[in-house]
Amino acid sequence: MALSARKSVASSGLAASLARRDVLRSMAGLGVLALAGGAGTLLSACTTTQSGGEVLAADPELASLVGSIIGIDMHSHAAGASGRLKPTYDLAERIRAGRMTAVCLSHPGDAPVIRREPDNRIRTVRQPEPGELWRFTQRRLAWFDDLVSGQGFRRALRRGDLDTAHRDKAPTIVQAIEGCQFLEGKLERIDEVYRRGVRHLQMVHFLRSDMGDNQTEPADQGGLTPFGRDAIAECNRVGMVIDVAHATMKLVEAAAKASKTPVILSHTAVAQGRPAEFSRRISPGHAKLVASTGGVVGVWGNPSTMKSASDYVDAIARAVDAAGAEHVGLGTDNSGFGPTPAVWDDYRDFPLIVRLMRKRGLSPDEIRNIAGGNYLRVFKLSVKGP
Ligand SMILES: [Zn+2]
Repeated sequence: MALSARKSVASSGLAASLARRDVLRSMAGLGVLALAGGAGTLLSACTTTQSGGEVLAADPELASLVGSIIGIDMHSHAAGASGRLKPTYDLAERIRAGRMTAVCLSHPGDAPVIRREPDNRIRTVRQPEPGELWRFTQRRLAWFDDLVSGQGFRRALRRGDLDTAHRDKAPTIVQAIEGCQFLEGKLERIDEVYRRGVRHLQMVHFLRSDMGDNQTEPADQGGLTPFGRDAIAECNRVGMVIDVAHATMKLVEAAAKASKTPVILSHTAVAQGRPAEFSRRISPGHAKLVASTGGVVGVWGNPSTMKSASDYVDAIARAVDAAGAEHVGLGTDNSGFGPTPAVWDDYRDFPLIVRLMRKRGLSPDEIRNIAGGNYLRVFKLSVKGP
């Protein structure tokens, strides 16, 4: 059934709670509460009464549903993963507090040469020096090592690791890289990053790629290049999740044929009709194409087109209409929107998102699939080991 046809039981109460909490957080960030005297008590009162944990305590049915979900965010740059020298907060604790299991945490491989311009578009500002992006990725891999040891994370490395992590309530990262320009034509680097713990590679990002065309630049490589095809074969060989976010539909069509495993499109939104030129959104047909591989389309929390967590869940419903509930996932792009946070950027709020999905009319099975089960299926088909 098309979700839009059984549209919502209003969820504005919780959405408003989330929005209010965000407002209070940003007030705190601006130092407003320090000026307002006793208001600090108000903030802590609101935070505790409206947190995911409180909602779970008040709603045993929701708590049991959340407990049955292997919650996975398919795309995130949380806690400074993109380029900060040190993790900016205790990400593992937030994942644990929100009853999630894993986050696909990535750094953009082209970060040194792209910049967010005042019009909020990200553009390439120069060409990288030879070796520069490989050195950058090696520094980020060391950052991930420090994150894992410093915060007590596990890494999902083998097929069974996400199930085990859920059983043990152990916060886990699926280590990812967004954009593969660090390869510099050397396929053997896929195996090198694999050995460092990476299990999820997104082929293209903003910088023009020798793997093929991205959505935000003029497409002149006919979709997937021969090098991109070889990289897919190497990902299949070593056991890596293949992510076609940012790629043109033509690239996705070729990748769908080339890959032996389903492909992920980790973070986007499904447009009502045809998306504007150079938009990062995708058409319903593009979403269906990903679904036809057995793959998953992740829905992002883009603050330039969404105002609340309720809007986020509406975007999930649109993606379900296009691709089916077995082919949609959470791909928040947490910390990927510059200074503006994603509409839900704190994993402690995961139970509130689950509750909104339930109010939106999704069944427990559909919610379990969307909130992590679909990604888990592709992960198990892509990586090796027990
Ligand atoms: Zn992205």
